[in-house]
Amino acid sequence: MDKNTRPEKKEIAAATLAALGEFGLIERIRQRVRANPAVLTGIGDDCSVCTFPPGEVLLTTKDLLLEDIHFRRTWIDMYSLGWKSAAVNLSDIAAMGGTALYVHLGLGIPAETALDDLEAFMHGFLSLCDQENTTLCGGDTCRSVQGLCISVTVQGSIPQAELCQRSGATPGDIIYVSGTLGDSALALLQLLEGEKPEAHIALRHYRPQPRLQLGRALASQRLASAMIDLSDGIFADLGHILERSGCGAELDTRLIPLSASVQQHLHQQPQRRTQVLKGGEDYELLFTAPAEQQQRIAQLSAELNVPLTAVGKILPAQEGLRSIDHCGITHTSMRENKSDASNPGGFNHFRA
Ligand SMILES: [Mg+2]
Repeated sequence: MDKNTRPEKKEIAAATLAALGEFGLIERIRQRVRANPAVLTGIGDDCSVCTFPPGEVLLTTKDLLLEDIHFRRTWIDMYSLGWKSAAVNLSDIAAMGGTALYVHLGLGIPAETALDDLEAFMHGFLSLCDQENTTLCGGDTCRSVQGLCISVTVQGSIPQAELCQRSGATPGDIIYVSGTLGDSALALLQLLEGEKPEAHIALRHYRPQPRLQLGRALASQRLASAMIDLSDGIFADLGHILERSGCGAELDTRLIPLSASVQQHLHQQPQRRTQVLKGGEDYELLFTAPAEQQQRIAQLSAELNVPLTAVGKILPAQEGLRSIDHCGITHTSMRENKSDASNPGGFNHFRA
């Protein structure tokens, strides 16, 4: 690089959003977005204009991420924050079995935010969008007087007959989870305790990989009867399926797939087991499938190179939620009080 350009670059690096202004920021973002012929009009008009696959239904999901509620700037780098903001929404499209198409982003930003930080945020956000072939088509930005506020909307599509909803589980179905659980919760627990998580555990917390390919395959091959992504923790998210499907279940926590790091950690600190298992943000998929699909699910697991592990089965509603702990003892929680039963141990924003 030309020596003469260096001081200028330094100046830009030190610049804040206040100097660039809203339209300067939007223009910068627009220049970074990869072209997509399906987006007829992207950033820069009153609405985005996009084509839609004929005969399919529209999926729309939105997530809000607030500084000091969902994330702390001192714990997460801005690239990862951008990545994760896209990931948590894309994961919802995966959970329906859909294809993610279009993304809209709303940002409330403190005026003193360094442009370097914003660049890193957008780089992380758009890297995942590119990886998953989705396009940022528009959004809004405004000044925030307290902390960063990130609002992401993702739209996707799916043939209606392939929809995987939370309501489709039936007694006798097997409950599966993808990948391994607990890495993200362990990383968060360690951060909260002032410990330094192992790098790859931390990555699972900072840069989750939405399971879009798996979700789409399960839906298009009609393998899953109900599906949800694991954001609030396996107990809470299974609870959502049971509530919507009107079922009970048996969950054998001894079968929950754990990474070698989590296993080793829990061996040394067994008192953390419940917290790690009940913690969320794995962004893996939890789905149910009729027992006769076992063979095909094993095949799909091998094809996609994604572990799919049976962790329990769906029961009639009157059986409640039975969970078998690591000693083999069964605990039953009945689902009479819906406000409690709908969230057995997961994260709830409006709880103290
Ligand atoms: Mg979800």
